[in-house]
Amino acid sequence: MGRVCSLSKIVSFSSPPGGRWYFYSSAWACLSSRFQAQPGSSSRSYANVAENAQNVGFIGLGNMGSHMAFNLLKAGHTLCVYDRNDAAVLSLVDKGASKADSPREVAEQSDVIITMLPASSHVEEVYTGSNGLLRSSRDLRPSLLIDSSTIDPQTSRVVAAKVSTCRLSTNARRIGFETPIMLDAPVSGGVGGASAASLTFMVGGPEKGLKAALPLLHAMGKRVVHCGGAGTGSAAKVCNNLAMAISMAGVSEAFALGQRLGIDALTLSNIFNSSSARCWSSDTYNPVPGVMENVPASRNYVGGFSCQLLGKDLGLALMAAKETGSPIPLTTQVHELYANICQKGYSHEDFSNIFQRLYQGEPLHTEDKEHTKDPLVDNT
Ligand code: NAD
Repeated sequence: MGRVCSLSKIVSFSSPPGGRWYFYSSAWACLSSRFQAQPGSSSRSYANVAENAQNVGFIGLGNMGSHMAFNLLKAGHTLCVYDRNDAAVLSLVDKGASKADSPREVAEQSDVIITMLPASSHVEEVYTGSNGLLRSSRDLRPSLLIDSSTIDPQTSRVVAAKVSTCRLSTNARRIGFETPIMLDAPVSGGVGGASAASLTFMVGGPEKGLKAALPLLHAMGKRVVHCGGAGTGSAAKVCNNLAMAISMAGVSEAFALGQRLGIDALTLSNIFNSSSARCWSSDTYNPVPGVMENVPASRNYVGGFSCQLLGKDLGLALMAAKETGSPIPLTTQVHELYANICQKGYSHEDFSNIFQRLYQGEPLHTEDKEHTKDPLVDNT
C-alpha cells in the first residue's frame, strides 16, 4: 500500500528581525519519497510521475548543481539541463533529464529555471548573453527564474530588474504573475547538503515568487529564509561567508599556536566546543587533520568548499563594502591570506587548509588521541 499524502500548507514562522523562515512539510516530500529510483531501474521512472510536476530547466551542473538537479528529478519533476561541460550534462541525461544546447533552448522548454553558476559574470552571460535565457524571444515561457549562485547583490538586482521587464509568452504556465519573477536564492550547506537535499536557501525577491518556488526549494533543501527584496539573498550569503572565512582563519591560528604551546588539537577542540570559542569552524568543520572524521581536513582537504570560490566570495564582500562605505579590515586581511594560499597552488583544496598551508599546523598524532580518549574532567 502506498502512503497517503495529505496536502499540506506552507507554514511560516517569524524569524529574527528582517527574515522569515519557511517550512514546507509537503506533499512534495511525500511524492519524492514515492519516486526514489531503484538501483538499475530506468532513469525515466523519475520523470512525469508527480502530480503538479513542473518543467524545470537547470543550468550549471557542477559540484553543487549536479546534486540539486538530481534531487529535482527524484522529486518527480521533468528536467531540461544545460552546462558548457558535456560530461556534466550527460551524467544528468543518464539519470532522466533531457538536454538543451543553450540557455535559450532551456528557457523555451521550461516553466521554471534554476541556475547554479560559479560567479556574477557567468550569471550575466547565461541570462543576457547572445544565447541567454532572456533571448528566447521578447516573451518568456518561464514565469519563475531562481539563481542559486553566490554572486554580488548588485548583479542579482540588475538581472532581476531585467527579468521583470519581460512579458510572459502565451504558453507560459500562469501562476498568478503578470510578468516573470526572478529570485536570488544562494545556498549554504556545501556539497554534502546539496547531495542530501538539506541545503539552506537565503532568498531575495517578491514573496509571491518565493511561495511559488517553495516546492522546488524543498526538493533540494530543508530550510528557506526570506531575506527581503531582490539582492538580499545574495547579500546574506556574502555576509555569511565573510564571517565563516574569518572564523576559520581565527580557529586555525589558535590551534596552530596551541600546538606550539604544547596543547594537542583534540584537547583544545574539546575545550573550544564547550567554551566561548565554540563555532562551526571548530565543532563541525575542524581544520586539524584527524580531529574529526568526514571533514575535508581528514582527507587531505579534498572536496568541500574550494579556496578559489571562497576568494571569490571575499572579493564580493570587499566590493559590497566599497559600495556601502563599510569598514572591513578583517575581510581585507583574510582575503589576502587566501589569495596567498591560492598563489601557492592550493586553490582547489578546501578552505580549511589554511591551518596547514598558512599556519603550518600539524595533523593530530595518534598518541594525542590516546591521551585525550579518557581525559580527567571534573564537572563539579
Ligand atoms: P562548480 O564550478 O563546480 O560548477 C559550476 C558549473 O557551472 C560547472 O559545471 C560549469 O561548467 C558551469 N558553467 C560555468 N559557466 C557556464 C555557462 N556560461 N553556461 C553553462 N554552464 C556554465 O561550482 P559549484 O561548487 O557547483 O558552485 C556553484 C555556485 O554555488 C558558486 O557560486 C559557489 O560559490 C556556490 N556555492 C558552492 C558551495 C560548495 O561547497 N561548492 C557551497 C555553497 C555555495
